[in-house]
Amino acid sequence: MTREIKIHNNLTRKKETFQTIEAGKVKFYSCGPTTYDFLHIGNARAFVVGDLFNRVLKAFGYDVTFVRNFTDVDDKIIARAKEVNQDAIKFADHWVTEVQKDMESLGMRPATHTPKVSETMPEIIQMIQDIIKNGSGYVVDGEVLFNVPTMPDYGKLSKKDIDGLQSGIRVEVDAHKKHPTDFVLWKPAKEGEASWDSPWGKGRPGWHIECSAMAKKFLGNTLDLHHGGIDLMFPHHENEIAQSEAANKCGFCNYWAHNEFLNFGTEKMSKSLGNVITIRKFVEAYGGQVLRHVLLSVHYRARLEWTDEVLQRAMDEVKRIHEFVIETKRYKANGSGPIDPEIEKCIEKMMEELSNDFNSAGALGQYFTFLRYTKNAKDNLSEASLKQIHKTNEFMRETLGFVNIDPESVMAEFKKQEQNTSNSDVDAAWIEGLIEERKVAKASKNWARADEIRKELMAKKIELKDNPDGSSTWKILGL
Ligand code: AMP
Ligand code: ZN
Repeated sequence: MTREIKIHNNLTRKKETFQTIEAGKVKFYSCGPTTYDFLHIGNARAFVVGDLFNRVLKAFGYDVTFVRNFTDVDDKIIARAKEVNQDAIKFADHWVTEVQKDMESLGMRPATHTPKVSETMPEIIQMIQDIIKNGSGYVVDGEVLFNVPTMPDYGKLSKKDIDGLQSGIRVEVDAHKKHPTDFVLWKPAKEGEASWDSPWGKGRPGWHIECSAMAKKFLGNTLDLHHGGIDLMFPHHENEIAQSEAANKCGFCNYWAHNEFLNFGTEKMSKSLGNVITIRKFVEAYGGQVLRHVLLSVHYRARLEWTDEVLQRAMDEVKRIHEFVIETKRYKANGSGPIDPEIEKCIEKMMEELSNDFNSAGALGQYFTFLRYTKNAKDNLSEASLKQIHKTNEFMRETLGFVNIDPESVMAEFKKQEQNTSNSDVDAAWIEGLIEERKVAKASKNWARADEIRKELMAKKIELKDNPDGSSTWKILGL
């Protein structure tokens, strides 16, 4: 038996009851990271949301096949590997290992399959051949392009139409394309670059085709659910749909869900803007449990603004939850009555929230209602109520992952941080010196140095706030 769940489907822009193709089974694909550096906590939001979907669907009784890829063949990877004189695939592989460590530190459950592009070449090439055979792909000088106008419903996810897109594209760049919106499926490799043999010569795939090919390899022609960050909706997901539907001649995916951004100030946290905090640095400073909490304590479709208050609140809540879980282990039952209805209803209430488009924030709210009630009722708990309390904590751990398997270790980590903060004699002159240096770096548009300084301070739990008048103030993030 599975429990009903409603999902906001971006294909229809409506919240709909989730109907799977096969009863009780979910074919779920989530776009994974490009591996060439440490991921930032904005990326983490996308991966933790994918993890939430996987956990909740499983808790609701579904047999979930969850695929999350690693993009290990990409222009940025090739460029970075060249800089350090390394083989691109080996370089990317090193970063796959680092990313996996980060994912584990966030309490993410492993996906069923985690394919890499470099290991999916035969399927990618086959799919491109199918697209050409079915009249949607064409070859120009060793390059294969997807002919967008062959798909009359192109734009059905992003709600863009081909005419509108065409007028926004500069024509001179696209002389070799049949249509300005056409995109690359396979590109010839330059001398010395990683390449694979193909019917069109040595080359490598364009970005979009990998997800279509990996989804087909592990999930078949039609998926139940597809997820990624909101920035992937166009063109990446739109192109995935076009490719898969052209190759397989059937619908690609029934439900599309996208998480909103994590913003830093008013801007998206992103590498190109240089306003990133890496997962690794954050977890070293505050622990993975806190980051997971920050990212899932708001609904995945709501924007999340990164502020000191958000961090502080997450720390307080993680502490409260883990103190409570440890405390409940010491509770003694008092009598053999039925389960207290106030305690009993929490799991059901949390399920209700989660069945409403994975409302993790709502579920957390329900848990805190239960926590407050239980603390007050602790001297008067029947055996059955006590069992139910443990069951509720376990449910929280399974679904949101907000209860660590080892709550004592989370509290020990907080203690250690507290000691470090109180022992550290913060050198104000050193901070002021760095602030001045950053000001100079910013004035000369040396954003890399300015960013480095922010990170250097952040590593010591010192947060900078840029004021409208150009000055910066700092404070130690309290614990
Ligand atoms: P990338 O490696 O850049 O392709 O990004 C991997 C995933 O992270 C994608 O699903 C992106 O949409 C997502 N992502 C990147 N930046 C952010 C952000 N600031 N907030 C939320 N998701 C993001
Ligand atoms: Zn993808």
